[in-house]
Amino acid sequence: MKHSRSTQLFSQAQHLIPGGVDSPVRAFGSVGGTPPFMDHAKGAYLYDVDGNEYVDLVCSWGPIIMGHAHPAILDAVSEAAAKGISFGAPHPGEGELAAAIVSLMPVEKVRLVNSGTEATMSAIRVARGATGRDKIIKFSGCYHGHSDGLLADAGSGAATMGIPGSAGVPAAIVAETIVVPYNDRDAVREAFRRFPDQVAAIITEAAPANMGAIVPGVMDGVGFNQFLHDVAHEHGALLISDEVLTGFRSSAQGYWGIDGAEQGWVPDLFTFGKVIGAGMPLAAFGGRADLMDLLAPVGPVYQAGTLSGNPLGTAAGLAQLTLLDEAVYTRLNAKADRLKGAWHEALEAAGVPHVVNAIGTIFSVFFTEGPVTDYESAKTQHTGAYAAFHHSLLEQGIYLPPSAFEVCFLSDAHDERALDRVVSALPAAAQAAARALG
Ligand SMILES: *Cc1c(COP(=O)(O)O)cnc(C)c1O
Repeated sequence: MKHSRSTQLFSQAQHLIPGGVDSPVRAFGSVGGTPPFMDHAKGAYLYDVDGNEYVDLVCSWGPIIMGHAHPAILDAVSEAAAKGISFGAPHPGEGELAAAIVSLMPVEKVRLVNSGTEATMSAIRVARGATGRDKIIKFSGCYHGHSDGLLADAGSGAATMGIPGSAGVPAAIVAETIVVPYNDRDAVREAFRRFPDQVAAIITEAAPANMGAIVPGVMDGVGFNQFLHDVAHEHGALLISDEVLTGFRSSAQGYWGIDGAEQGWVPDLFTFGKVIGAGMPLAAFGGRADLMDLLAPVGPVYQAGTLSGNPLGTAAGLAQLTLLDEAVYTRLNAKADRLKGAWHEALEAAGVPHVVNAIGTIFSVFFTEGPVTDYESAKTQHTGAYAAFHHSLLEQGIYLPPSAFEVCFLSDAHDERALDRVVSALPAAAQAAARALG
């Protein structure tokens, strides 16, 4: 496989753009080597500037659920673009996309924004406005975008005030973030005990997928998300379910985080992104009308955006949501099952200790003895083995996430041919992982 043009572009980009990339993981820092620079994409495949073809298991980190350059989505975007790229004024597409989201999700009102980062940041502002409290609880290893208060690492011990997870994040801001281990109910209760009447909201990924895939635990018939809802309400706080990654990924109904919706509980606020923008910079947050009406211009919580609800984004998102029916998810589930099985078989045959975790159609492999249920256990991932596995697949034309803590995504365009290619590349990749483990 030839990489000369990518290598040249990467070194040029590094002179102009920090690290040569506009989002850190793209630089391949954690797996090493040069990232292929992409020229175009179609269906299940990416094509780089050196003419290499890859089966894409990243799907732009989730948005591309119908496959790249889907004709109906391209048509919707070009029709919208021909009518003008942005108005900075209301247009019908905003209401149409909002109606689609409200019909599929247990939310009464939504506001459209441009990124998942904005969605979570704004949902937290609403929760603080609603409760008059400042602190939030988040889980270590959960990612909610890069706003200051959410770039908090756990301090020493469970349920302590956060410490900055990045240079440039003020300690005073992350002091309002309490970081607790995922799936740890006692730590959550402890946080409420230690900071009585101070917690505005718990924010959680509906199922964590930014430290690899982690399954919300069930205890005495009560799922972790429902526990969070109940304990938050017991203490006058709200639950924000971050579905930026999981939303519309595993069922046509849209959401993932309601383990036991028949029990009649729902999170107070949701955030969405990725799939609802179909690859355009579009995200949303929503929830009960009384909470959402706290937003300006109706209420006192300020939030705005020059390009929010952009007509290209709403057209792309609506076109994609229209295509997503149960049949798509049935197919995606079958594909994910096939790959999860093949992953396991290849690694077992090579004698590589591993765990394959899955959240519906999203999955990840940990090179560890397992089980992996939180950030502590996720960090036992053997990143060297992952890097070897990744590079072997890349050289065989399979594009896996270039980080050991990201998940694999599939699209409706991943057909038998694409999946066969992945499956036949796995044994050599498993051997490479085995060598890395020594
Ligand atoms: C991707 C992601 C975000 C951030 O979205 P951006 O559009 O990258 O800002 C927030 N929360 C979760 C769970 C995500 O996966």
